[in-house]
Amino acid sequence: MTEEQKLLYAGKAKSVYVTDRPGVLAMKFRDDITAFDGMKKEVLPEKGSLNASVSEFLFRYLGSHGVKSHFLRMADERTMIVRALRMIPLEVIVRNIAAGSMVKNLPVAEGTPLEPPVIVIDYKDDAKHDPMVNDDLIVALRILDKRSLARMKRIALRTNTLLKEYLSMKGILLVDFKLEFGREADSLLIGDEISMDSMRLWDAATRQSLDKDVYRFEKGDVIETYRAVAGRIMDPPGEGS
Ligand code: 5GP
Repeated sequence: MTEEQKLLYAGKAKSVYVTDRPGVLAMKFRDDITAFDGMKKEVLPEKGSLNASVSEFLFRYLGSHGVKSHFLRMADERTMIVRALRMIPLEVIVRNIAAGSMVKNLPVAEGTPLEPPVIVIDYKDDAKHDPMVNDDLIVALRILDKRSLARMKRIALRTNTLLKEYLSMKGILLVDFKLEFGREADSLLIGDEISMDSMRLWDAATRQSLDKDVYRFEKGDVIETYRAVAGRIMDPPGEGS
């Protein structure tokens, strides 16, 4: 039996395939890298497997702390076997330090600590440039009811606490990150990926970018950066701290 069969969906950096098992999909991390709504794109060998490994590692870590995701297991170094979720078309962004679009759009200096962390939610639609939405809009558009929205935010904040604490042991600041959620029956689970493409990470000592900003703003060698940060993140516990 093959794990990968029919292509269900191809996004900008990942492809999702139907498998032989109902309710189970195969998510392949490709080597494509894109930025600015796909305006900038390239193929960088090894990038897919690096993001897949980090996602696997962080999904396992979150799972061991009671935060559920779609992750089931790896089929190979770039293919993750996941639960099929009914995806919610929102990007839930948690920010610990002001950077990126927040600094571009609002009167706040890059590097300003945000205490408590800030949740920003975008409606996922590249053609509309992922417009920001608020709680009232999410409820009015019937994307989520109030209770599910509150539950989604609680999971996002718990994920933030776990990731922030873990990464700080590795000398890495979790500046911000993006989550996507989906439903399986009544459960709300984290889907998609948690990787260098979806987190903004800074070295705690030098404040150097260790994530997709290196690609977005041509700050250095992307694969070298991804390889080094993946190594730091996946170091055995206690090391690299
Ligand atoms: P910003 O709003 O500053 O562009 O992004 C905030 C955080 O969310 C960053 O860590 C960024 O990588 C992530 N993020 C925002 N939108 C997207 C998206 O469409 N795709 C991915 N992979 N990450 C995103």
